[in-house]
Amino acid sequence: MIIDVPELSLVALVGISGSGKSTFAGQHWKSTQVLSSDFFRGLVADDENDQSASADAFEVLHYVAGKRLAAGRLTVVDATNLQAHARAGLVKTAREHDVLPVAIVLDVPESVAWERTEARPDRTFDRRVLSRMSRDLRRSIGQLAKEGFRKIHVLRGVDEISAAEIRYEKLF
Ligand code: ATP
Ligand code: MG
Repeated sequence: MIIDVPELSLVALVGISGSGKSTFAGQHWKSTQVLSSDFFRGLVADDENDQSASADAFEVLHYVAGKRLAAGRLTVVDATNLQAHARAGLVKTAREHDVLPVAIVLDVPESVAWERTEARPDRTFDRRVLSRMSRDLRRSIGQLAKEGFRKIHVLRGVDEISAAEIRYEKLF
């Protein structure tokens, strides 16, 4: 499956915890192109899992994204992006820099994500949290276009995700 991405875009990965966003990002982009919420929580709070640091972490993440986009550099945001307000911030940052916001949704069965999550020492939330994320994801998918995302790619299932290839579209 070919995923067309404008050469200069702000790519929002969207998916529940354990859907494979960070893995996918690592496969398709340089580490410097990927801004992950975990990394920024670590930067501001010494703890990638400190959810109380999220507001500060995202403020810095958006600042860095803005600098990158102003310099014409494709930027990928590796966060769950399951909340409309989180996505609105990304669309706003993209628009401020005349860049297209793109969403790539990783939609894996909750059972798969849970199995992976249980195997991770750095994720300790319980299943109900993941179920809530799944509900948020279902609701999110239909909202992305009207939120301003100009291209929306929904990768359904593990096989589609692992077969995905990114193709860059030249804008001019
Ligand atoms: P979070 O939102 O919690 O950061 P995530 O969406 O970034 O989660 P990953 O960290 O990429 O998810 O993946 C979760 C776990 O699943 C990791 O241990 C990873 O190695 C494993 N994983 C990811 N993709 C695959 C895959 N295609 N096959 C098998 N295991 C995978
Ligand atoms: Mg991750």
